[in-house]
Amino acid sequence: MPLLLGCIADDFTGATDLASMLVRNGMATVQVIGVPDGPLPEADAVVVALKSRTAPVRQAVAESVAAADALLAAGARQIFFKYCSTFDSTEEGNIGPVADALLRRLGAGFALACPAFPANGRGVFQGHLFVGSRLLSESGMENHPLTPMRDPDLVRVLGRQTDGAVGLVPFAVVEAGAGAIRDAMTRLAEGGRRYAILDAVSDAHLLAIGEAAESHALVTGGSGVAMGLPENFRRAGLLPPRPDAAALPRASGACAVVAGSCSRATLGQIGFARDHAPVLELDALGTPDAAALAAQALAWAEGRLDAETPVVIAASAPPERVAALQARLGRDAAGALVEQALAEVAAGLVARGVARLVVAGGETSGAVVSRLGVTALRIGAEIDPGVPWTYAEPAGIHLALKSGNFGARDFFLKAFGHG
Ligand code: ADP
Repeated sequence: MPLLLGCIADDFTGATDLASMLVRNGMATVQVIGVPDGPLPEADAVVVALKSRTAPVRQAVAESVAAADALLAAGARQIFFKYCSTFDSTEEGNIGPVADALLRRLGAGFALACPAFPANGRGVFQGHLFVGSRLLSESGMENHPLTPMRDPDLVRVLGRQTDGAVGLVPFAVVEAGAGAIRDAMTRLAEGGRRYAILDAVSDAHLLAIGEAAESHALVTGGSGVAMGLPENFRRAGLLPPRPDAAALPRASGACAVVAGSCSRATLGQIGFARDHAPVLELDALGTPDAAALAAQALAWAEGRLDAETPVVIAASAPPERVAALQARLGRDAAGALVEQALAEVAAGLVARGVARLVVAGGETSGAVVSRLGVTALRIGAEIDPGVPWTYAEPAGIHLALKSGNFGARDFFLKAFGHG
């Protein structure tokens, strides 16, 4: 299976989101964690998950180019640079500088930029990014602690992050289809533009944009715009039908949930699980020691592990309890304590035969994946939108990594075939 699409994502859950989109559209896809340092796994598409969104610009550029080197060495025919559908970045970058460096690496002079993801309410119109019915700058993103987005005009935003010129392919052209889009991009490139922001407010627009980008060395955007890329490879006879794109090795062994997200969605999911499965709520305030907390949890799990009904071990707590632990230890130390405890719990559960594990929380997932020494995730079918089952290597277990707000109330049961 030759590698076709090489992807670089600027954060972990964004990488999974993109990988899932590619699987849904018929590409066997593997997510690799960090810049690969060995041979790449076999797949139609490989997504390298970096943590470059808010890293210093030089580091983000160096890691992205190193990732591109590895993907190109493995034969990738096109590079996709994935960022957030809310264009999360600062005045300095990192979207512009990384895209500039990738274009240089590829010897190319032009790329499109389109973060639109209509299914999640992200649309671009006249170059302005909307979140639902609000402009980006009035969507709450203007208050983001790390990447406040105060300007909704992406031509201006990207323009401040690059020394190249940025143009626009507006709605009326995108609406006219792939041929019109291709012509408009050619004119912009010939007119000296390095980038074009592309309007898109529907999946039909994204598919047309994907088709128009067939010959581009670099495509940049949210996971939405990747929707149209697999078809190019099929049309070129490079990608056979893959009815089994989401197939993973057979799952067997005991199942468990480890939760460190304190989001409303996760707290609701734990509440729901209480009526259907054994649930342990860790008391980090009573036992502020990671090893001791993990030992308590593993002792509790002993004898409760089952191949059908998960044990649920949660540090998740409502805001007043989180605030109490933070007041005692400081915010970062409180987070680190809980993450370390849950990572130990996950490792202990796997050592005791758990082979299907759901982790709730983005940071918590990062801690667990790193503790388990996972280097690659083969992407399977989605449990709920944005959260697929994956097969983690070299650990050889099934993992579902749920970012805090994702998933329906019955997620922890549904993941294991209940409900
Ligand atoms: P989300 O995806 O919802 O943002 P994360 O795992 O990224 O979830 O972040 C949740 C953070 O809260 C983690 O650092 C976790 O360790 C921390 N945390 C979890 N439970 C508690 C608690 N009871 N008190 C304080 N911090 C907690």
